[in-house]
Amino acid sequence: MKRSRLLAVLVGGIFCVAVMSLYRMLELMQGAELQQRLDTPIGQDEDLSRLQQKIDKLELLLSDNNRLVATLRDTLIQRKASWETGRGANGSSGSTRQLPGCRLAEEMKDGTDGVQLLDVYDLLPFDNPDGGAWKQGFKIRYQGNEWDEQPLEVFLVPHSHNDPGWLKTFDRYYEDQTKHILDNMLIKLSEDSRRKMIWAEISYFSKWWNDIDEQKRETVKSLVGAGQLEMVTGGWVMADEANSHYFALLDQLMEGHQWMQRHLGVKPSTGWAVDPFGHSPSMAYLLKGAGLSHMVIQRVHYAVKKHFAQQRTLEFLWRQSWDSSPRSDITCHMMPFYSYDVPHTCGPNPAVCCQFDFHRLPGGRVFCPWTIPPQPITEQNVQERALLLLDQYRQKSRLFRSPVLMVPLGDDFRFVEASEWDAQFTNYQKLFDYFDQHPELHVKARFGTLSDYFSALSRRVAAAGSTLPTVRGDFFTYADRDDHYWSGYFTSRPFYKRLDRTLEATLRATEILFSLTLAEMRRLHGDGRLAADFPAREHFGRLTAGRRSLALFQHHDAVTGTARDPVVVDYGNRLFESILNLHAVLQSSAHWLLLLDKSQYHHDQSKPFMQMVDVMSSQDALPQKTPLTLSDQPRSVMVFNPTEQLQTSVVSILVDSPDARVVAAETGQPVVAQISAVWAGPSRAATDSFQLDFVAELPPLALVVYHVTRSSVGSAPRARYTFRRRGNLPNVQVEHFQVSRPDAAEADAPLSLSNKHVQIWSSPETGFLQKLRLQSGLVRRLQVQFLWYGTRTGASRDKSGAYLFLPGEEGAQVYSPPEPPLVRVSRGPVFSDITSCFRHFTHTVRLYHLDGHAGRSLEISNTVDIRSEVNRELAMRLVSDVANGNRFYSDLNGFQMQQRRTLAKLPLQANFYPMSTAAFLQDSASRLTLLAAQSQAVAALRPCELELVLDRRLQQDDNRGLGQGVTDNKLTASLFQLLLEDRRGGAKEVGGASVEHLSLLAHLTSLSLCHPPITMVALSNSQLPKLRPFLPLRSSLPCDVHLLNLRTLEDAQEADNPSQEVALLLHRKGFDCSSAPEPQLKCTWSVHEEVSLDGLFSPLRFGSLRRSGLTLLRDHDEPESARQQTSPRITRLRPMEISAFRAEID
Ligand SMILES: [Zn+2]
Repeated sequence: MKRSRLLAVLVGGIFCVAVMSLYRMLELMQGAELQQRLDTPIGQDEDLSRLQQKIDKLELLLSDNNRLVATLRDTLIQRKASWETGRGANGSSGSTRQLPGCRLAEEMKDGTDGVQLLDVYDLLPFDNPDGGAWKQGFKIRYQGNEWDEQPLEVFLVPHSHNDPGWLKTFDRYYEDQTKHILDNMLIKLSEDSRRKMIWAEISYFSKWWNDIDEQKRETVKSLVGAGQLEMVTGGWVMADEANSHYFALLDQLMEGHQWMQRHLGVKPSTGWAVDPFGHSPSMAYLLKGAGLSHMVIQRVHYAVKKHFAQQRTLEFLWRQSWDSSPRSDITCHMMPFYSYDVPHTCGPNPAVCCQFDFHRLPGGRVFCPWTIPPQPITEQNVQERALLLLDQYRQKSRLFRSPVLMVPLGDDFRFVEASEWDAQFTNYQKLFDYFDQHPELHVKARFGTLSDYFSALSRRVAAAGSTLPTVRGDFFTYADRDDHYWSGYFTSRPFYKRLDRTLEATLRATEILFSLTLAEMRRLHGDGRLAADFPAREHFGRLTAGRRSLALFQHHDAVTGTARDPVVVDYGNRLFESILNLHAVLQSSAHWLLLLDKSQYHHDQSKPFMQMVDVMSSQDALPQKTPLTLSDQPRSVMVFNPTEQLQTSVVSILVDSPDARVVAAETGQPVVAQISAVWAGPSRAATDSFQLDFVAELPPLALVVYHVTRSSVGSAPRARYTFRRRGNLPNVQVEHFQVSRPDAAEADAPLSLSNKHVQIWSSPETGFLQKLRLQSGLVRRLQVQFLWYGTRTGASRDKSGAYLFLPGEEGAQVYSPPEPPLVRVSRGPVFSDITSCFRHFTHTVRLYHLDGHAGRSLEISNTVDIRSEVNRELAMRLVSDVANGNRFYSDLNGFQMQQRRTLAKLPLQANFYPMSTAAFLQDSASRLTLLAAQSQAVAALRPCELELVLDRRLQQDDNRGLGQGVTDNKLTASLFQLLLEDRRGGAKEVGGASVEHLSLLAHLTSLSLCHPPITMVALSNSQLPKLRPFLPLRSSLPCDVHLLNLRTLEDAQEADNPSQEVALLLHRKGFDCSSAPEPQLKCTWSVHEEVSLDGLFSPLRFGSLRRSGLTLLRDHDEPESARQQTSPRITRLRPMEISAFRAEID
């Protein structure tokens, strides 16, 4: 601490001295100028201009000086960081709490006020008693005089829930329903200014906008301007909040908001998420960061809803678990009842509320299942009808603290026909008029938007001098009735959940490389021009389409795996085509960047300069590597590192020769490589292709070239193989490689692999991991098991489907193969692995022999095929001796970690949670982290265990409207990194709902797992122009700062063109302080929230830099004046927070 104060004083001192001396200089010079002017009375104008010049020069000096001070400060910070890690590594094991940045991390752990959802879960009995008319609730009582002082104020909010794909594809829904809804909206809202409507999905709205003429567009704008039509959330879709990654969540929000700004000139202020199957605080964070101040959620566990209703906390300030300030607070309204349809929104009794859904008037296609139909409102029945409805309104109002009431009016794809608009709006208007004519009822009701409702609410809350309660935590796992927990969709259609993340990684890499390419072109030309032949506009179109495909897939029936089969194929094609299109952008950007002589750049879409190594052949196929033909001429392999960290990565390509040599093109130095077999069958190696893996040192965001040549025999070490199978040994066909057979003694001994950080032991029978030992001496049991889950039996029982997980009473059954597996062990200088080949899956555990962080974890990969099964789910379980009790942690959207408690009072399926990137178990001595490259369900059903569901095949519908099972399974891959960390000495036992973060090492491992290097090869061996590496950054970013995106913005004047501006999105991650990475990591991190962006991104220079909201809306930009008051180059990055800047790269 003393040292840090000393440093602060030192830095401050340097700054003060520098500034003071400059001012002194200025003073002296001004004095001299004045003296001169007095001495020589001639040429006053000339003098003034000279003075001006001098002042300009001084200003320049001053700004240079500022930069110098900033750089100095950063250097000091970084030196201090490395000094302290050095001490941590060398000193006692208790030194870890001195990790720089831990002060910030610790500050984020004291959020204890308000309601914590984990405590609510501990408290609730989950007994599901019959509540009467409100089945999952209770009887609501009121006197009748509650509104005498403050009348009941009702806002009826018309809405139409439009799924961008579910039972029909996006385009089919648009043609059949959505376009008619929006067409009629224009007519029907224009007829009466009292009518209102809200709209959420910009994917549909923008499609419709393209179809309508200018006059209609003007009408839309005037309806929006008049407050009759409100765009809510403004996302491309109403996103899933369980499986989606925060990159994609923000991307779809940005795409929608940017569209709104350009075409409607408005920004949303309220969120509307009535159908996603559970709710995440990550979404609340993004909405708040995008400038929204209110939000509505609906699908919350019925027992939690009931509790919140009893406590009258259905309206609350949703705060991030890690936030000790109210900065992240957003006002959230939780809908109290079962559904967002009309029967469940007017009040607690659906039989009554259904009578006020005038779309269900007798004679129509829809009716009320509670048998009493609606009646058209007439003079004869208006009094009776109005009082019946008012009773429901009043009951519902008793669940809230203010006398303002929101009543949504709508359902899925509602308001299609003009007659439906008329039925709803005219009948309700009659009821409202009746209320107006009867002041003794103390009710004012009208059509409203969400903003209308929330501004009335804010007024009432302010007038009452009260504030809303604070709530922390998340709303998973959702149950809508009985023991029907929606944990199946955390895994459904895992092939596409993985494809989603492949597109996400491809999109991010392409965004960054494209932005850097444009910047580099402008820098080179000096006048803002781009390279003449570079198809910037076409590429920007491809990027936009890629953004929108990823955005569309975040819809709550897309990434969730809950759409009909043909709709899934439609999504798959969109993802697949986007990946291909983004590859085209990557290739030509890389081409231009790598050319030494840029004049040699020529773009020909039909003859690309290079191609991708990993290629998908169709939307439902796993990527394959393109084999390379080698010769004596060097073949160029280009590798792009999309991460902001220096990476030691293993690059993998296929070649036609078992003898190859790889050199770094720039230096001609050979790199470490390994030749492995390509497996045509479990024990049969291909004879015409070979896998070449080499170790690449990749600077941050760099494009590096390697040369591969065919060479003399034995130039690259070949992997050595051992095969085992209990009973009869397989027929092994492996040419070119050394194969050894274990002798009798070896055959029963555990298999073991090791590198300098880790040693593992595996079962000789199954190849499954059994034990792990770290270099520090820490040993942990670590058994891998595979399991089957079945579903409930009996004709009348509800069974698992796309949404629901309803396992049989027997629980998980250990996977017992019909025949013993083939176990294949490979050993080589780059990596060694153990592969177990079973009928339903292939499981590989691999150790890389690398010095960097990649050597500290185990890579686990599975290829699963359960197409032969009926009503089964395959799970992978890790059994350890990490004593976690009933607590574990899983991530929310890759953005934050959330504590989970496994509760015996809940059924098995309720204890499964979503996991997008990470989960861990920990005790005071160790932490076991599993990092994932795709989303799936996770649970820790018993102490020391962690399990994941890999795939599910279910023959039946689960009665949530989909009307089919999930039987379109494919050969599906999943990829993980398993990390054991030693916490001895550093860890504190923490109780309560503690906030925990991944360690820095885990963050780095996750980054390399989710954003692997992208490898391309030159198309031919023929004469290549001279290439040179592209190295945009001098050094890695601090390891807690993640470059989330560098996204080129659309030109404000010229539509569909890239502008000079980029969205620079930085996420400063929170990290665990109880384990210091040993040996220390290569990157450093900062103790301070303030960082110099110029320093971080050097030698890149930002010509302008303005902090903005997370979706880069112009009116969220910080004003220019505020920017200049603080030093423009020093900015604040708060731990856990995402910061967005609008920037121009010079
Ligand atoms: Zn929906």
